[in-house]
Amino acid sequence: SKTPNQLLVIFGSSGDLTQRKLIPSIFKLYCEGHLPENFGVLGVSRSEVSDEDFRKKVVLENQHISDTIGNFAKRDSFAEKIFYQALGDSYDLDYSPLRERIEALDKTMGCDGNCMFYLSVPPKIYETIASRLNEQGLSKESEGHRRLIVEKPFGYDLDTARELNKGLQDNFGESQIYRIDHYLGKETVQNLLVTRFSNSIFEPLWNRNYIRHVEITNAESVGVGKRGGYYDSAGALRDMFQNHLLQIISLVVMEPPIDAKAESIRNEKVKALKSLRIMTDPDILHQNTIRGQYLSGEIDGEQVLGYREESGVDPNSTTETYAAIKFFVDNWRWADIPFYVRTAKRMPTKVTEIVIHFKTPHHQLFKDSGVDSKDNKLIIRIQPNEGILVKFGVKVPGQGFKVERANLDFYYDDLKGTRVMDAYERLLLDAMQGDATLYARADEVEAAWEFVDPILNYWKTDKNVVTYGYSAGMWGPNNADELLEGDSYWRNPGKL
Ligand code: NAP
Repeated sequence: SKTPNQLLVIFGSSGDLTQRKLIPSIFKLYCEGHLPENFGVLGVSRSEVSDEDFRKKVVLENQHISDTIGNFAKRDSFAEKIFYQALGDSYDLDYSPLRERIEALDKTMGCDGNCMFYLSVPPKIYETIASRLNEQGLSKESEGHRRLIVEKPFGYDLDTARELNKGLQDNFGESQIYRIDHYLGKETVQNLLVTRFSNSIFEPLWNRNYIRHVEITNAESVGVGKRGGYYDSAGALRDMFQNHLLQIISLVVMEPPIDAKAESIRNEKVKALKSLRIMTDPDILHQNTIRGQYLSGEIDGEQVLGYREESGVDPNSTTETYAAIKFFVDNWRWADIPFYVRTAKRMPTKVTEIVIHFKTPHHQLFKDSGVDSKDNKLIIRIQPNEGILVKFGVKVPGQGFKVERANLDFYYDDLKGTRVMDAYERLLLDAMQGDATLYARADEVEAAWEFVDPILNYWKTDKNVVTYGYSAGMWGPNNADELLEGDSYWRNPGKL
């Protein structure tokens, strides 16, 4: 669809995200002709910088652009669309100079009164910015559209998420608020919807009658890097599970929406999240949750530090860098089917995948030849080597009925000639066009926290909670597999 003329105002434009992701993504959209005829970017931060210096920093001398784009000829004309406005020494000031600048740019660039605000700043000042913008009438959609994009983390727990939702909704309508979760911008995550709902070979099996259990793994081989300070107060459950993984889970669990409109899909996702069985009993939480923290070890032949030795991390920290959760979904489709989800740092490899483990056939036809049927697996690989892999049993040639596993694998890379848009490119373009399908709604975020809050509370307050150590480069704590039901339940990628 057509992208309307507009101005994109980025708060926190002096920061890492603007430099590394936002401007390079907008540049790619520009190079490929996705931006409207009249388009501008206004960077906003506290310090005084000229338009020229800002252009140099984020476009002309931005190594994240030179790294990824061969299309240098367009850099100069793109840079002319970039502007900068200093706010003064705080984000909590009178925004009339900003409003005047926006109005002037809107006029000279011909943006038709359309304006999108991107908050790339620490979450504690989201509300302040929203209310200062509202004060200046900048949230009113009298002429064109006014949208507000906010980054994660969205709340620290259920209470803070509710407060934040309210603080934003006091100033912008819910339909104007776009909560970004870059996982939803990934092709394979979106493909989950297409795989499920545009084929007739998967959906009839997508239920408790045929599925034994569902496993979701998000493994990173990196440690906390430079994010030690932030990470130590968050942990794996807040950093990855509450947002990205629960978004993926909602797409696996959800019922078919009545159509592909944003609200229909988001309604089903909320219903899915609300059907997750909330765990509050300490015994259940003890059995079904595991937390671990990486110790020093070896990754790809290199010795790496333990979590507590990382910079910004408390040397006595008990923050989890590994979290594994088993849970159930209380609805007709999924009753009694366990879901196993883990997220961790310093794993042997980087991989994010969903594994649907199907039940073995009820009647084992070939058992007299000493052969069990292989269980079927459908693997949706989100990264790296995005694709869909089907594992099934075939007969080994020769006498008798020996069965071995065969693969029916599809990789996105095989679709040659189609460049896969980066998550930020896709999401920014969607927001510019007013498509909120891949953005989280307030009630989705709150439903996700409702599930996560009791686990966090239990981990924080119960004396029996242990943080297991695991050596960097291992698949988590030694006992993680057994703790959650026996080792055939996890598919450790690389093992198979
Ligand atoms: P950042 O570099 O730490 O900060 C962005 C800007 O926010 C800074 O340039 C600064 O602008 C302003 N700022 C920082 N601390 C402030 C404070 N205490 N009070 C007022 N202003 C402050 O952050 P970022 O990495 O660009 O990320 C921006 C947002 O995206 C954050 O909410 C972050 O959680 C989220 N996020 C980032 C990533 C990523 O990959 N970087 C990934 C996911 C989510 P001034 O020049 O005005 O001081």
